[in-house]
This record gives sequence, C-alpha cells and structure tokens, in this order.
Amino acid sequence: MRAVVLHAPHDLRVEEITVPELGPKDVRVRMEAGGICGSDLHYYHDGGFGTVRVKEPIVLGHEIAGTVEAIGSSVSKIAIGQRIAVNPSRPCGHCRFCQQGLQQHCLDMRFYGSAMRFPHVQGGFREAMVIDETQAEPVAAGVSAGEAAFAEPLAVCLHAVRRAGSLLGKRVLVTGCGPIGALVIIAARRAGALEIVGTDISDSACAMAKKVGANGAINTASDPQGLAAFTKDKGHFDVMFEASGNQRALVGAFDAMRPQAIIVQLGIGGEFNIPINVVVAKEFDLRGSFRFHEEFGHAVNLIGQGLVDVKPLLTATLPIDRAVEAFELASDRSKAMKVQLAFG
Ligand code: ZN
Repeated sequence: MRAVVLHAPHDLRVEEITVPELGPKDVRVRMEAGGICGSDLHYYHDGGFGTVRVKEPIVLGHEIAGTVEAIGSSVSKIAIGQRIAVNPSRPCGHCRFCQQGLQQHCLDMRFYGSAMRFPHVQGGFREAMVIDETQAEPVAAGVSAGEAAFAEPLAVCLHAVRRAGSLLGKRVLVTGCGPIGALVIIAARRAGALEIVGTDISDSACAMAKKVGANGAINTASDPQGLAAFTKDKGHFDVMFEASGNQRALVGAFDAMRPQAIIVQLGIGGEFNIPINVVVAKEFDLRGSFRFHEEFGHAVNLIGQGLVDVKPLLTATLPIDRAVEAFELASDRSKAMKVQLAFG
C-alpha cells in the first residue's frame, strides 16, 4: 500500500510500505480522508517545531478517518464496514497520568505521525492502517470520511475550551483563525460564549471567523490598531484562545484582556518573549492546552448530531499521489483553510 512519507524538509514522497499483521484486538482501516494539520506543515517545511525534530522517515498524518475492512478475533465493538474516525492518541493506560485521567500526558504515549519520541510513531496518511480497537470511534450514518477526519482538530479545540473553564456569558478573543481558531470559535459558541472576536493577518481567515459565528474579526496586519477599541478600562475580554503560535498575536492582545483574564495557549511556536510584568500586574492566568482525551468522542458526537458543521472549513481534497501539491496548497493561508488527502 502507499503512504505519504517525509524524509527531510520539502522531501515528501509517496511510497510503498507494508501493512502490519492484524492482532486479536486490532482493527484494519481502509483510510479515506486525512486532514493536513499545522504540525504536519511544520514537519514538512522546518523538519519539526521547538525541540521536536524529524530524525528518520516518518509517515505523517493524524486527522484521519476511514472504513473498517477487517477485525481481530477478539474485537467485539467494531464491525466490518463501519465508518470510523481514528483516534490518533494511543496512551498506555497504565502509567501515573493515565490512571489520573490525564492521558494526554501519558509517560508512554504513541501519538500517530509524531516525531516527539524516537523511533517516531508513524502516522495515518496511508491507504490502510492497523489500529487498536479502542482507537476506532464509530461515526453516525451520513457523516462523510472528510467530516469525520475533523474530529481530531475539533477534539483539540474542545479540550482548549475545557482548559478555559466555563465560557457562559464570557467575552472571548481568538487569535489566529485558521482551522484551529475557527473550530475554537465554534466550540466556544457551543459552550455559551456571549461575544467572540477573532484576529488574524489574513482576510480569508477573518472572513471564515465570521462565517463560523464570530461577532467580529480584525485583520491585525491591515488594521494594526484594530484591538485598540477593546483596551479601555483595563481591557474587554475575559478569555483568550491563542491559536496562531505567534508571539505578536499573544502579546499584542494583552491590552485588550481584562485583569485576571484566562489565556489559553494552544498554538505551538518557538520561544516567546512575554512582558511578564504585564502578566503579573494584570494577574493573567496563562494556561497551555495540549491534545485531548475523552474530547475525541465528544467531537465525533457533535459532528454526528449535526451540532458542529465542519464542512465550511474544507478547502480541497486531493488524491494521495498529489500529496506534495496538497501540502503546498495547505501552506498558502490566502487560499486554504483545511486541505485533506483522499486515499485508495
Ligand atoms: Zn500512560
């Protein structure tokens, strides 16, 4: 079968790899859709992010969905022919953090398509994949594989909303309105946010923010003073979700945040310089948000019940043999929100 393998920055190849044997608790998935994520793009352009580096060829991809084509002898909950979203998170289930319900911090995590550990955990941009039964999340009838592949980024955003605490009646700022920022807007609205404003440096991302339910959106490149209207009386917003991974987006919004604001950082970047005196004096509550656990099931349910519509976010779907073109398109923020690969 074919897979999308990254050998080095800008050296992405479609190659033949072998399909592993099916164990008793395993499920074999015929992959149908795979969304290209910001972290896939970091691997593709930069060979990694922060201290995480690609050190050996890696099959990318962790926003994946398909149809079950074979099941192991002791699999009982999943049937052949069932469409599933693949949960790319594979915590050990036994360590201290797994036992505490903090599986995203598992000491032996195997997250698909991640170079965080070595040997790297191979990913899901491939025609078929053998996964554990527990990673198969059945989707409702009528949900396309492309929609199901949004479960992963939506789960990331639901986890970020959980990290923020109650949003009921809150004024929310979302910085960075790519796919993650847009899904945060949708999730925050579902969670009861009163007012949501997005910022981005791309007009098309700002337009998407409004399309998915933001009250307003500011292009901070063409309108650098756009947040000034929210700075009076020590700042307007109660909660910020920083989804760009850009220091200027984070720090540039500090004046618009009220004292004791909750700031959830979910964009990944390099090192940030933060005026810590402002964090202290305004008593900001700065929180990270990383991956998800039970939110994956919630995401599949929200999509399945039609409570979250991810379809507006999908820019294009390209076949696996045009993977390089798909990665280049996904990198062009003026043209693309989410780009997916189709397999088989
Ligand atoms: Zn664990």
